[in-house]
Amino acid sequence: QAKQQNESRFLRYNNELAQTNRLKINMEYELRRALKHNEFELCYQPIVNLGSGELVAVEALLRWRHPARGLLKPEDFIDAIEAAGMINPMGEWVCEHALAQMVAWRALGCDYRRLALNISNVQLKSLGFFRHLKAMMQTYQVAPSELILEITEHFILDAKHEVMLQFEHLQQQGLQVALDDFGCGYSSLSYLKKFPVNLLKLDDSFIQDIETSEVDHLLVETTIQLAQKMGLQVVAEGVERQAHFDYLASLGCHHMQGYLVAKPMSHDDFVAWCQQQACVKLSVAE
Ligand code: C2E
Ligand code: MG
Ligand code: MG
Ligand code: MG
Repeated sequence: QAKQQNESRFLRYNNELAQTNRLKINMEYELRRALKHNEFELCYQPIVNLGSGELVAVEALLRWRHPARGLLKPEDFIDAIEAAGMINPMGEWVCEHALAQMVAWRALGCDYRRLALNISNVQLKSLGFFRHLKAMMQTYQVAPSELILEITEHFILDAKHEVMLQFEHLQQQGLQVALDDFGCGYSSLSYLKKFPVNLLKLDDSFIQDIETSEVDHLLVETTIQLAQKMGLQVVAEGVERQAHFDYLASLGCHHMQGYLVAKPMSHDDFVAWCQQQACVKLSVAE
């Protein structure tokens, strides 16, 4: 009886393993095809100063135009890509395309200020990420002061010393590091002591109900105060409504990002958005 039970458990386990392996191989194949056939694309979402409305940076967000499944968002595939061990080639694709885009914007006279890239923890396990980033910065003549790297708390938790040194070196040259989805991890505050970030991106889950939830209001207020005391700037994510904006303004939040300002846009739409912003600024100045 016990033996039979063990056997069936073993079979079940084996089946699951086979299925996981199949998915992994499948994903690897799909991803190679996607890279080869240019199925990935980037969209761009502005981050603006809350007081002046001026652009401070633009974040590159990945999309996968899948031939069978349609337009996919990162939540639909990033985990699978990480599990398949394919995050590095995908991350390199993002980095190269975003930096090449900056060259195109410059040629069009579009003042993008800074470009923010999302970096997965897996990409930061070794120095390969920095080797590639530096090579691309050289190729496309991008200065560290034109970049923001968005990382999450999980990275800081087990960051290697030599990787930290790479960040530090680039930060000394003007690169900024943003702590993404701030507040969603475990012990955010102690991380701030361990790793000198420049920006905190307050997760949208704290913003959504800020008008009605006393707790969210308090958490956002306290985070902004803490950031100010530590010399950091806060970016509120997911600002969708005027009420969100009003609350954040009353709390002295520095920057914001969200549908109220602009949704993630194609490259062309972002250029048009920038031109329109410049016109608004000119007419205000006149
Ligand atoms: P994130 O870095 O926190 O990016 C913000 C997400 O919020 C984006 O989702 C954006 O489209 C969405 N968003 C912006 N404004 C609003 C708003 O007003 N309301 C609401 N409800 N949502 C808003 P998206 O593009 O689906 O990206 C999801 C996550 O995937 C990102 O979260 C980021 O962590 C990750 N990601 C995106 N691109 C890349 C990439 O190139 N590499 C890596 N490793 N991760 C990426
Ligand atoms: Mg981000
Ligand atoms: Mg975020
Ligand atoms: Mg978020």
